[in-house]
Amino acid sequence: MEDMKVLLASPRGFCAGVNMAIESLELALGAFGPPIYVYHEIVHNQYVVSHFRGRGVTFVDDLAEVPAGATLLFSAHGVSPEVRRIARERKLRAIDATCPLVTKVHLEAIKYAEAGYTILLIGHEGHDEVIGTMGEAPQAIVLVETPEDVATLQVADESKVAYLTQTTLSVDDANRIISRLKQRFPKIASPPKDDICYATQNRQEAVSLLSAEVELVLVLGSQNSSNSQRLAELARERGIAAHLIDGTDDIDPAWFAGVGTVLVTAGASAPEVVVEECLSWLRDRFGAIVEPRSIREESVSFPLPRELRDVTINI
Ligand code: SF4
Repeated sequence: MEDMKVLLASPRGFCAGVNMAIESLELALGAFGPPIYVYHEIVHNQYVVSHFRGRGVTFVDDLAEVPAGATLLFSAHGVSPEVRRIARERKLRAIDATCPLVTKVHLEAIKYAEAGYTILLIGHEGHDEVIGTMGEAPQAIVLVETPEDVATLQVADESKVAYLTQTTLSVDDANRIISRLKQRFPKIASPPKDDICYATQNRQEAVSLLSAEVELVLVLGSQNSSNSQRLAELARERGIAAHLIDGTDDIDPAWFAGVGTVLVTAGASAPEVVVEECLSWLRDRFGAIVEPRSIREESVSFPLPRELRDVTINI
């Protein structure tokens, strides 16, 4: 059998928001020491979450679990104003590691709600980011999950409707919903710049272009990572087998029967170390030759939360 070829997609893996959130947690640990609490997972990745758990970080879904006065980080996905209020009430030292591109969507929601619009938020029910965004104006926001939802939407004034999107959606799925919305509400307003973030779009574009050359796609990422799920779905929509895996333990060698070329990529919350482990596994098992394939450069970075800009690290 010939050696396997592996196309290694770029951009892949950590985005600017995830880098900033993880660096924030590192800095908070160094400056204030454990225990540190994080509201929800810092990013949706098992490897990252268990790494920090081992260093004294506790992830909570309810602020009642955080002792008064403790240090608390808000994750990259953002939180609702109600969560901020409770944190203040409990006198927590809150550090806001929300990705600025999520904050942008919150600000758009506030702006449209104040102007009397009904906001149609395209997103996935129950996702941390959607819960946080809806919390900005619960009375004004309606969640839209599928193109079929559009027909039954009830709005107070059809001339005052706007749409926003979750940052990590499939660009194709979102466009299908947006075109239905435009048919139903010809005057629908939207922000001048996409809410689906650059990192989500770039990783999808790479899979879209490169999957045409392979028989199998491996996406490193966790099952609850929205943008990682979308990468695997995108490949499957193009008729290519795709698996979303946290690491090599999830791999079934049977997937590779008759496969000569594999695309490896990673969602925005998956660290490069799990990609490296996957490549080593493919080299050991199948003599894989790895060919890096970059479709675009990324140079985005975000500043640390202001609460951390002047901290001193205790090593
Ligand atoms: S995926 Fe996009 S919105 Fe989410 S943290 Fe990364 S850059 Fe921010």
